[in-house]
Amino acid sequence: MAEAWGDGTRVVHSVPAAAGQPFLPGPVFAAPYHLGGDDTYGRAHNPTWRALEDALGGLEGGETVLFPSGMAAITTFLRVVLSPGDTVVLPSDGYFLVRTFVAELPVSVVEVPTAGPYPSFDGVRLVLLETPANPGLDVCDITAVCEAAHAAGALVAVDNTTATPLGQQPLRLGADVVLCSDTKAVAGHSDVLLGHVSTSDTDLAARVRAARTLNGAVPGPFEAWLAHRGLGTLDLRLSRQAANAAALYDVLKTHPAVSGLRWPGAVEDPAHAVAVRQMRRFGGVLTFELADADAVARFLGRSRLIAASTSFGGLHTSVDRRAQWGDPVPEGLVRLSAGCEDTADLVRDVLGAL
Ligand SMILES: *Cc1c(COP(=O)(O)O)cnc(C)c1O
Repeated sequence: MAEAWGDGTRVVHSVPAAAGQPFLPGPVFAAPYHLGGDDTYGRAHNPTWRALEDALGGLEGGETVLFPSGMAAITTFLRVVLSPGDTVVLPSDGYFLVRTFVAELPVSVVEVPTAGPYPSFDGVRLVLLETPANPGLDVCDITAVCEAAHAAGALVAVDNTTATPLGQQPLRLGADVVLCSDTKAVAGHSDVLLGHVSTSDTDLAARVRAARTLNGAVPGPFEAWLAHRGLGTLDLRLSRQAANAAALYDVLKTHPAVSGLRWPGAVEDPAHAVAVRQMRRFGGVLTFELADADAVARFLGRSRLIAASTSFGGLHTSVDRRAQWGDPVPEGLVRLSAGCEDTADLVRDVLGAL
């Protein structure tokens, strides 16, 4: 894919044109293939996966392995790189199921808030970052952490779900591995689960791919095709979502019912200075606090446009009260994922509901 093209061009043209072929070839459903070609069996090989892996890999700048969910991607990667007795640095404010999974492994865990300060990485095998972190939306300097971690011989992986490969490209900032839940903005239509691992280390990519074949937790071709279909509009959707987030930020920042408003795209956000250096663009996810759980329920009850939903990055604006899932955050803290509705409608709806 040409480096110089803009985001919209790159996602629209993520499948090379071929005479007589569809713009996006349909899903290939196969368990076994007729032998004699490169593809032998559907647990190991699928051309629909490959098309999406090539498209995502072109954006990330590394080889990409697709998984049936973000958690399948992350946990397979962790199982491939970690051995008993290793030390892992994890974000204390990151996706909680990753901490739950690692807690059950025979490894030592050091939890660090995304904004730091980071400890010495001596003796550390893996530093896992999530920036912007979710739900707090703090940010860390990927290049600086990579330099310190690499000097100590540690590997760095970044969960890039919130930013997406258009918002931030950690491999180009020095990270060894990118992990992503494509369930969120990449697929973008709230109808498919998928995830990927990307790395510029071809040996590591081969090990992750082999682990997928061995574990047998493989993506469905139809899901991969749906996500690829969604990827074509990622640039358009992120643009509208970011415009909506910016408009909501503007009205929420002075609203008396709202506190702790965060969106790294805002100049006044504490994470903005670092974010703007390493992110290519911002998305639609904001975090803020209402008085308590009842205030959130009343807000949702009065809104006509906002769905209560525990995902983000979709077409529909949604709100998730994170304490209900066990995140260590205040009862009234919500993550709002701005969707693709008209900005004026959304702002009016949110102000009315508040
Ligand atoms: C949703 C999410 C995951 C898990 O992805 P699934 O596709 O739901 O398995 C991992 N990390 C982050 C930051 C997420 O938001």
